[in-house]
Amino acid sequence: MHVKAETGGSPLQEETSAWGRESAAESAFPAGLEQTPQEDHRRRAVALQSTGSVLQDRFGRVFDYLRIAVTDRCNLRCVYCMPEEGVNFAAHETLLRTEEILRLIGVASQLGVRKIRFTGGEPLVHKDIVALVGGAAQTPGIQTVHLTTNGVFLRGLAGSLRRAGLYGLNISLDTLHAERFQKCTRRAGIEAVLAGLDEALELDFPSVKINVVALRGFNDDELRGFAALTQRAPITVRFIELMPFDAHQIWRSGHFASTQTLVKLFRELYPNCEVAEGSATEHRIFQIPGHAGRVAFIPSYTRSLCGSCTRIRLTADGQIRNCLYSEKEYGLRDLLRNGGSDDEVARVLRQAMWEKLEDGRTAQRQAWERRGKNGSARESMTQIGG
Ligand code: SAM
Ligand code: SF4
Repeated sequence: MHVKAETGGSPLQEETSAWGRESAAESAFPAGLEQTPQEDHRRRAVALQSTGSVLQDRFGRVFDYLRIAVTDRCNLRCVYCMPEEGVNFAAHETLLRTEEILRLIGVASQLGVRKIRFTGGEPLVHKDIVALVGGAAQTPGIQTVHLTTNGVFLRGLAGSLRRAGLYGLNISLDTLHAERFQKCTRRAGIEAVLAGLDEALELDFPSVKINVVALRGFNDDELRGFAALTQRAPITVRFIELMPFDAHQIWRSGHFASTQTLVKLFRELYPNCEVAEGSATEHRIFQIPGHAGRVAFIPSYTRSLCGSCTRIRLTADGQIRNCLYSEKEYGLRDLLRNGGSDDEVARVLRQAMWEKLEDGRTAQRQAWERRGKNGSARESMTQIGG
């Protein structure tokens, strides 16, 4: 069942926003979007091409970042990601096995992939997550291994992950209030997440980030609280726009908060904040004077970052997605299980990335033409890997 656009019925609806009305547009890519220049990527393409094989597309983009959903299972039920009940999990035997994932990482690294991110579902519920991190970190060519987690099981695992070679940890946490956490994730656990964050900071991971999905009327009054976390800790707190990837379509329920509005609010709160440097997706990034960390805003919905996309997505059931918005998938699992060679796997990877459409707007239009605006082959970000 879909939550109707801008009506009641949203699990987050009770609190009122400090702002005026702001809802998601019909299309995930409103008119007037800006394209990120591709110059950097062309330069990198040329540099990589001179060293051998690379994954590239018809638009000059080079793909060196593989995001792997290791499972579609999760211990939480975030309202914008999964339904509360009746989740259609994939059968276990359809999910990639540890050795299959590691083999794919090996092939991908030979095609120029340098960065791996494990995600899900919740990667920390995967029994072999430490071995996966270790295997990826030891794969020749792989430079950094990252993981995105809800953090509930981090305490106790963070040390093993660090020793296995994990470089970057992104912890998803949408609120600093226990009752809001319960409402948003439909589970308890905020204390465990905060304890996991403390442990990660003690272990000196080179990169620790907190991902906050910005939700109007729910956490838009927590800018100050999250910014305070950056005072002593060298972390980046990133406010991310809600995206249309849940079967219940909560993104249409009036909780969408744009980067533009959030940045305005943030600058009013911190008029002395300085512009800082960040990753390609961290479109607006600031440092409050005297703070060790930074605050970033990611316009994942209102602005196309497609021109500088470097990402390849591997779903938990072994399909390659060349774009979050595309519904075309390129199967690798059956190839692996039917004796496919590394060359054959590499061919599928090359084809998948070569056929990437120019931008997500085009990919989404094509998906809509196939299925209608509310239809989706995948019901949740857990299946694609956020
Ligand atoms: N379970 C892990 C976690 O929550 O970090 C990893 C998987 S989760 C799908 C990865 C990221 O996607 C999380 O930061 C989550 O907040 C984000 N996400 C999920 N659904 C989203 C949506 N509809 N819009 C924006 N971000 C979403
Ligand atoms: Fe689970 Fe992450 Fe989705 Fe929340 S966002 S339900 S933690 S997969």
